[in-house]
Amino acid sequence: MQVQVIENVLKLNDEVARMNRADLQNAGVYAIDLLGGPGCGKTTLVEKTCAALADSVDIAVIVGDLATQRDADRIARFCRQVVQVNTGKGCHLEAHQVRQALSRINLRDVDLLIIENVGNLVCPVGFDLGQNAKVGMFSTTEGADKPAKYPYLVLAAEILLLNKIDLLPHVPFDTPQFYADIRHLNPTVPVLECSAHTGTLEPWTRWLRQRLPAHVA
Ligand code: MG
Repeated sequence: MQVQVIENVLKLNDEVARMNRADLQNAGVYAIDLLGGPGCGKTTLVEKTCAALADSVDIAVIVGDLATQRDADRIARFCRQVVQVNTGKGCHLEAHQVRQALSRINLRDVDLLIIENVGNLVCPVGFDLGQNAKVGMFSTTEGADKPAKYPYLVLAAEILLLNKIDLLPHVPFDTPQFYADIRHLNPTVPVLECSAHTGTLEPWTRWLRQRLPAHVA
């Protein structure tokens, strides 16, 4: 009986995600769901991505955290349309929360929607939000074993980022093991290195631009 309940929750989530996806597609918006552990640098990446693309791309951001609107306040310095979702005890965003947030965004003025999910390498993976791509983010300070320990993110991601590469000389991070574990799980997923803090974003922003609607790319 319990399994049935969980299945129904996921089915409902998928139905709302389909509605989100249709609305985004109709408005010509490309949407990413950014997933990574707490402290891997998601919010800094969002800030710097907004700043790097501001000249040619209209961006909206939905950011999920259990509590506070600190991330939204940070991102609002770089982006006009930001909605903070507080999930309370929820460890991930669900499609209906994104739907509610979308109702407060003028999608006609948006080319790119970035959804920064709750910091968590497990729970957000299984919930479709209506995004075009799930982006998985790791960082050198977390240790190289995270892809092997959290394989579902590696399997579900359209692209993976390794952030904080500027700290490689200072932290024990087994780079060959990191890549070997990813390749064992997912032989084809692109892995891009970046340092959001220092603004080294080039392969990432190029990847994004290639996916944006033709009129802005
Ligand atoms: Mg954050």
